[in-house]
Amino acid sequence: MEKTIGWHFDNSYVRLPSIMYSDISLNPVRSPKLVLLNEAVAVSLGLDAQALQREEGVAILAGNKIPEGGEPIAQAYAGHQFGHFNMLGDGRALLYGEHITPQQERYDIALKGSGRTPYSRGGDGRAALGPMLREYIMSEAMFALGIPTSRSLAVVATGEMIMRETELPGAIVTRVASSHLRVGTFQYAAQWGTDEELQRLADYALERHFSADTGTQNRYLYLLKEVMKKQASLIAQWQLVGFIHGVMNTDNMTISGETIDYGPCAFMDTYDPATVFSSIDRQGRYAYGNQPNIGGWNLTRLAETLLPFIHDDQEEAIQLAQDTLQQYPHFYVENWLKGMRAKLGIFNEEQEDVQLIEGLLQLMQQYEADYTNTFIALTFEQMEDTPLMNASGFQEWHQKWTERLARQQQTKEMSQQLMRQHNPAVIPRNHRVEEALEAAVERDDYRVMNNLLKVLAQPYAHTKEQQEYAALPEPSNQPYRTFC
Ligand code: AMP
Ligand code: MG
Ligand code: MG
Repeated sequence: MEKTIGWHFDNSYVRLPSIMYSDISLNPVRSPKLVLLNEAVAVSLGLDAQALQREEGVAILAGNKIPEGGEPIAQAYAGHQFGHFNMLGDGRALLYGEHITPQQERYDIALKGSGRTPYSRGGDGRAALGPMLREYIMSEAMFALGIPTSRSLAVVATGEMIMRETELPGAIVTRVASSHLRVGTFQYAAQWGTDEELQRLADYALERHFSADTGTQNRYLYLLKEVMKKQASLIAQWQLVGFIHGVMNTDNMTISGETIDYGPCAFMDTYDPATVFSSIDRQGRYAYGNQPNIGGWNLTRLAETLLPFIHDDQEEAIQLAQDTLQQYPHFYVENWLKGMRAKLGIFNEEQEDVQLIEGLLQLMQQYEADYTNTFIALTFEQMEDTPLMNASGFQEWHQKWTERLARQQQTKEMSQQLMRQHNPAVIPRNHRVEEALEAAVERDDYRVMNNLLKVLAQPYAHTKEQQEYAALPEPSNQPYRTFC
């Protein structure tokens, strides 16, 4: 007998007030073809990868058949998009439900590109193959870098064309996330729900991601603080690897602290805090250097929704929320400093470390140095013939850094080991990602992508093969642009 796929759904979100979602029916696609299957994710979910590749499995991944125990819904949410508040919701996504792994972990199983829902407004509910493959690559790269993220189980080409500026092949990605609760989910309930409905959502989030038992603390202040800590840590990790999310709207910021919604994201090459890739971010609101501030802005929007439960006296509630939010920069800097020290091989703490780190970043900006490769050069002591490394300012910095390392007990070898573990050899460089997407979309050739995925899966291995992927793109007079 053939093995079953191994789904084990237990859907808690649909037990929330009914305003929080809409039941939906499927929008089947014509001729689904599985183009990528993430066996590692399948295994970690306790699913049978072989069974997923058979007809029934592909039908499920294509949104043509509901998995056993699934209850497809579209989630309702709102959000500040580039600062403007809107009613949103899953306009091109569906949630089958929550799958429980053999380790008793709960994961949302969601499709993106699965067709229209009550929240689609004018949209077609569909997604193009290129961006869905891009989401797969970027989220897997982030996972391998050790950064909390949703993951991709599969990409299915739908066999249907969708209309954008031109006709494009359609696709669906299956996303796995510890939940899709967002700041925008709270904003939706605060705006359109009753206090009781909002409170049920907050209690649900507490129970699902934190601890239902918060002791004598105010539960909702505790929720705010825990989300704040997770986001401070997450955004610090983005900064440390040069990741630019691109659309840090409140509907794209999770309560769980995972990275979601890989639309126009990209990794920075040359170090410059003003770096923006997204074609729609004309003001640079979501520029690399602005991401930590935007995190704080989004958390303030979350705090506003929780005020009714923080204290009966709203002035008192505002004060308490502000006292909590005030700690955000501190949590962020603490995470960032810890990571930066590791990137420079530093084990202990000295007051002047901040100046040392910022001194390097300033030099990198001034001499337009590649962010990732500069840290790799330092790790492997490859002094290169680059404007940065030829600068006398850099040589002075290097001297200070060498002296700093000499002031700690750990050996040079231990420092190098630490640096190897915190400075990735490869990131998904934009030109490499484009090359992989082009081969797949234009020529149905997935070899380039599979090679890239293999290399990205072990960013800290520092193998010979990876050196090729560390190379910079040819200089171009056109800035790299990403699209939603
Ligand atoms: P995003 O930019 O991916 O965060 O999406 C913002 C909002 O637009 C969400 O409510 C999406 O569901 C919705 N949306 C994006 N693309 C489409 C589409 N093709 N059809 C319907 N809704 C969409
Ligand atoms: Mg989104
Ligand atoms: Mg998106």
